[in-house]
Amino acid sequence: MSEIPVERRTYYPLPQLDAEMSRACPACGLQMLTPWYLRRDRDRRVYRRWVCLNCQAHEDVSEEESA
Ligand SMILES: [Zn+2]
Repeated sequence: MSEIPVERRTYYPLPQLDAEMSRACPACGLQMLTPWYLRRDRDRRVYRRWVCLNCQAHEDVSEEESA
């Protein structure tokens, strides 16, 4: 039995672009990579998912690393 991906259970729509928080997207290069939501893995480490509002590329960054 496969596990439901976390992103399937989260809300839409995408967040508003916050110019101060946004970063350069590694996929398309635009300054539209925006912090979205927090998630926790099985070891209880907290990750922030970042999503690009242009191309929808996303990545999970440890909250400790991004602080
Ligand atoms: Zn992008």
